[in-house]
Amino acid sequence: MRYVSTRGEMAPREFSDILLSGLAPDGGLAMCEQYPQVTDAELSAWRSYSYAELAMAIIRKFATDIPEADLRAMIERTYTAEVFGSADITPLKTLAPELHVLGLSNGPTLAFKDMAMQLLGNLFEYALAKRGASLNILGATSGDTGSAAEHAMRGKAGIRVFMLSPHGKMSPFQTAQMFGLQDPNIFNIAIEGVFDDCQDIVKAVSNDHAYKEAHQIGTVNSINWGRIVAQVVYYFRGYLMATSENQQKVSFAVPSGNFGNICAGHIARQMGLPIDKLVLATNENDVLDEFFRTGIYRVRKSAETQQTSSPSMDISKASNFERFIFDLTGRDGAATAALFRKVDREGGFDLRDTPYWSKVACYGFVSGRSSHADRVQTIREVWSRYGMEVDTHTADGLFVAQQYREAGVPMICLETALPAKFEATMVEALGRRPARPQAYEGLEALPQRFEVMAADAEAVKAYIHQHTR
Ligand SMILES: *Cc1c(COP(=O)(O)O)cnc(C)c1O
Repeated sequence: MRYVSTRGEMAPREFSDILLSGLAPDGGLAMCEQYPQVTDAELSAWRSYSYAELAMAIIRKFATDIPEADLRAMIERTYTAEVFGSADITPLKTLAPELHVLGLSNGPTLAFKDMAMQLLGNLFEYALAKRGASLNILGATSGDTGSAAEHAMRGKAGIRVFMLSPHGKMSPFQTAQMFGLQDPNIFNIAIEGVFDDCQDIVKAVSNDHAYKEAHQIGTVNSINWGRIVAQVVYYFRGYLMATSENQQKVSFAVPSGNFGNICAGHIARQMGLPIDKLVLATNENDVLDEFFRTGIYRVRKSAETQQTSSPSMDISKASNFERFIFDLTGRDGAATAALFRKVDREGGFDLRDTPYWSKVACYGFVSGRSSHADRVQTIREVWSRYGMEVDTHTADGLFVAQQYREAGVPMICLETALPAKFEATMVEALGRRPARPQAYEGLEALPQRFEVMAADAEAVKAYIHQHTR
């Protein structure tokens, strides 16, 4: 399997080549040249597979340049009951006939990002060792991504993580999850500023090409192809757990921000998984809901981006959306490039008067948005009706899912985090603190390791320089 860019100007590359790089040289995103197809016989055989066996069967179709034995060893080391809390890895909870929640949040940081990031840690370590190279990961986080990355990369040979976060602005739980790590290859930098300041510093460092090269700076953000591929696996898993025969269609509801999670669902559907609808749920930051309802993609300015009670979906620009547009244009790199140049220049594009808009329906996407009141109400209802505590993001998904349920088509909502991560809103909804896994009791009291710095890219560069010599 080879990979091309969504903007059409990159010579085809192998999986290992694109794994460690961010944007393609032409500014696009890497995509597989064609979607591997899954046969009916494969789907039937996979019904008896463990999560790791299923992950192997799917990922090997994409990572064809990694020797099978090596890939298998990495996958088996990643998806264990020890790391993900149960042999199921992604337990399926049935709330009502044809309504399920797929548990993706039982990894080390209690959010679905662990599903992909844990594998990425092993893939990165492997690819770097092969090349005799090392990597210094620089990132900005408002919570979930940073902790998932740090927990995946801790103790890995050849890798250091420099993670910027807005000082004093993450929840106490999220702060403790990151700052509590004592591994010498993890560096937490608390920036005196907001999340956007952190992101600006990452951009400034990345744009200093000489510095970037000299210090082997890389990223693990949501456009990383390895993350997307690892996420494809649980769509198959959810399907196989919720059905007993291959002719059955299901729908997935996905709490969305950067379009990374649901992009994996799109890929699973293109591979032949019988998905009826992909239900995209946003919160008040409804860039994507607006697109799927109107055909207009209009990115928001930072000042227009609201802080909500489902903070991991507070995005103004969906970084993986270009992958879907590439498919929508019939994989026309020049057309995709023109549309996203328009986003840079004019802040968006309008597909209503193009031949593309009428094709959107063929891809199964539908969408909706929820407000703070909707998600609080949903948390209460899901608790009182089904006895399940769901977090604010999963509540967004369930709220929108209700609008698209259809008799005969099971709806699977992806659980993207556990309630313990977002205590304040859970207390507001249920009048009490949510359950917390045993191992996380007393987390906030552990010693914390971090450096406070001004919002100054030069100071951050100097710090990285000092700690990578
Ligand atoms: C990252 C995240 C999301 C959004 O996922 P995308 O891949 O960016 O669409 C939703 N919920 C939670 C809890 C997250 O951490």
